[in-house]
Amino acid sequence: MDPGLRRGDDKNRTRLDRPQGTTRKQSMSNTTTPPPPSAPPTGPGSPQDVPPLSGSFPLDPATLPDPIREEIEAPDPAAIDTAAAELADGVNRCPKCGSTEIRQKPGSDVLVCLYCRHEWQGARVEEEFGLGEGIDQLRGTVIASGARDIEADVAAMMTFKCGGCGAEVTINTENAMTARCHWCRHVLGVNEQIPNGAVPDAVLPFHIKKDDAVARIRQFVDKRRLFALKEFKEQFTPGNVVPVYLPYMIVDANAGAAIAGTGEIETRRYTRGEGNNRKTYYDADVYQVERRVDFTVDDLPLESSAERGNLDTRVNTNNIINAILPFDTKNAVKWNASYLAGITSEKRDRDVEQLRPRLEDQLLSIARCEVEQSVRRYDRGVRWQQERLDVHGTRWVSMYLPVWLYSYHQPGSRGGLLHYIAVNGRTGETMGSVPVQQWKLLAAALTVGTFLEGIALWIVGNMS
Ligand SMILES: [Zn+2]
Ligand SMILES: [Zn+2]
Repeated sequence: MDPGLRRGDDKNRTRLDRPQGTTRKQSMSNTTTPPPPSAPPTGPGSPQDVPPLSGSFPLDPATLPDPIREEIEAPDPAAIDTAAAELADGVNRCPKCGSTEIRQKPGSDVLVCLYCRHEWQGARVEEEFGLGEGIDQLRGTVIASGARDIEADVAAMMTFKCGGCGAEVTINTENAMTARCHWCRHVLGVNEQIPNGAVPDAVLPFHIKKDDAVARIRQFVDKRRLFALKEFKEQFTPGNVVPVYLPYMIVDANAGAAIAGTGEIETRRYTRGEGNNRKTYYDADVYQVERRVDFTVDDLPLESSAERGNLDTRVNTNNIINAILPFDTKNAVKWNASYLAGITSEKRDRDVEQLRPRLEDQLLSIARCEVEQSVRRYDRGVRWQQERLDVHGTRWVSMYLPVWLYSYHQPGSRGGLLHYIAVNGRTGETMGSVPVQQWKLLAAALTVGTFLEGIALWIVGNMS
């Protein structure tokens, strides 16, 4: 606290500021113990044979043996089935002529057959699976089939029998979702939702074309031309700008938060003493502030690749991807590997439970923001001391999001630094890190300082 200020002792009062709907129940809950259970009826058909309702388990799971606890705490099984049975054999055929030469029509969400020119639109998952609905009714964990837990024994390499000639074709799903048969030139794609994390529920197709992405990256670098490392500028080639589909979990959540602390409203301010001993005092009313907020979140994106989610900027600059959010995930279409023909992808390696802490972090910051709006009248601020988040329900859908990437490795100590410039494949939003020449920055800072000082002197000189 500012040493010049002292809280007026005599005038301090405490009042409770208790908004509607808040009770003190939670602070009391430690002191009440549940009554001992009465002897339950036994035998077939008795109530104890009926499984408890989802979210209403009568025991504290923490007190149970590990295997039982894990089973209870494990997410509910997939509730939304997004699998495309018609594509399961890996051969994506044109619905009209049967050709496998299918591409995304540039700049649109439409697929086009390169053989007969037939065009068709992928179904939006939002409508197909009702993903925009009922968020305020969500209870428990709802997981779409493409967002299921990854099974450790399912390999990333997948082998298909080519529907054209019978040859075996292997696709490495770590970075690709389609491959061409060497023998008959059929294109095969991974569409079956094998639980290795590679096949999502939905894909948001690229809209920004390569020329556009290159122009945006060039513009981004040009703006920083004066300070950029010489090698960086020299090595920039459009050929190194590549489209990548990055794996995300798109989460809907129904949550509530209770936040408590103390807030102060200044009632009087005065000064005492003379000269250097002059001090300002203030009187304030101190309030206990409690807020409860219920809210829903629609389409929150969470990186579902461990490498992408790593926010340590010393070793990579992946959080740049966060800066090019948001994506119009409402327009994502049902998974079809044809959207990824010739495009690199990064496989998901995180499950719902591994991402839950990050989701809860984000939900808490949303709750704090909501609450801040309601405590403006505490003009000396509110110090929050307790916060509690209740996640009533969540819905998880896995999705590939389109990003144009240009990367540059700057050599240096500890493996150097990887620089990225990323372009949102839907909106064109561009963000990146450009390696700078430190001496140029320093020189610039000095020049600006000298220049301003020069102006100041000139003004002073004119005034006298
Ligand atoms: Zn066709
Ligand atoms: Zn073949």
